[in-house]
Amino acid sequence: MKTAPAERGPHPRLIVDLGAIRANYAQLQSIAPGTSVGAVVKADAYGLGVDRVGPALVEAGCRHFFVASTREGAELRDVLGDGPDIIVFNGFWTPDIDTLRGWSLIPAVNDPGQFAALEAHAPDLPFSLHVDTGMNRLGLEPDDAITIADRARALDLRLVMSHLACADEPGHPLNAAQRSEFDRVLAAYPGVRASLSNSAGTLLGALYQYDVVRPGIALYGGAPSLEGTNPFTSAAAIDAPILQVRDIHPGDAVGYGATFTSGEDRKAAIVACGYADGLFRAAQDGGYAMLGDQHLPVMGRISMDLTTLDVTGAGDAAKPGAYVRFMGSELEALASASGTISYELLVRLGRRFERVYEG
Ligand SMILES: *Cc1c(COP(=O)(O)O)cnc(C)c1O
Repeated sequence: MKTAPAERGPHPRLIVDLGAIRANYAQLQSIAPGTSVGAVVKADAYGLGVDRVGPALVEAGCRHFFVASTREGAELRDVLGDGPDIIVFNGFWTPDIDTLRGWSLIPAVNDPGQFAALEAHAPDLPFSLHVDTGMNRLGLEPDDAITIADRARALDLRLVMSHLACADEPGHPLNAAQRSEFDRVLAAYPGVRASLSNSAGTLLGALYQYDVVRPGIALYGGAPSLEGTNPFTSAAAIDAPILQVRDIHPGDAVGYGATFTSGEDRKAAIVACGYADGLFRAAQDGGYAMLGDQHLPVMGRISMDLTTLDVTGAGDAAKPGAYVRFMGSELEALASASGTISYELLVRLGRRFERVYEG
């Protein structure tokens, strides 16, 4: 059987800017100068491809990687080789002991039962403790973490972590409350490295940075905080080709359900990118692509493979074979037009793009 050839004609591409990811890493290091900047690369590096993003982050200086599952950790170890720490958030499960050992992964122990299992079945295994300081998601109760402190410190404990619920709202009282609860736990763990902050927490300043920070979205250029300007550069863009351009006359309807009807003459471009590629159907209201510095609003419903854009203002540049860009610098704007956050837009990017790594 012959292998299917790469598409030579116009086809959608996901452009991942590894240079931007390295620059965002450097930016985080300058925001947290006294701290080791780790990298959260769960969900295939937020959809961008951990096989390329992981090595780029090692090149940028990263030595601590965080993933959700043991499987993600083993895949990352295969990519990175020996050296960097890989910490697995989803917990210590005895059926995974061989994988944790074989791939040198550091599980996060999330409850007293997991700690007892580690003591009984893998007392030599490096591990971290994840303490819940007020989010009520994963992690040990603070008092439980204090109770087991002497036993935990007698083993190969690498890191004590917690996670902030509201770091994207700098004024939220839960930030300081979680920090002081974390400090209460850390008093029982002298000399053990500590990590509290994701991207948004890192921006809250030195008090929140401890020994290791765990940014994810900032590395990929999303806006971590609801306040202030985003100091990071988007590392992801969709370049989608125009397949056809057509004239829309007053009264003409566009797309499924005829939800868009024009009151005037317009030009529409049909581009090869739809919800199968990760655009959200919800973005029919307010979503747009760019062509140069022209905004091209979505017209009507987004289909599985196609989206119709209003290119009335784009002149001759909007022609079949030309490429328009979704996301890029407009990542956050497209996410909010989609009724979601940049995280979800990134992790739902489709699988049929040609992925192009730049920088
Ligand atoms: C996903 C995750 C992070 C990274 O969060 P960002 O907001 O993307 O920086 C850090 N820590 C934990 C525990 C996480 O689950």
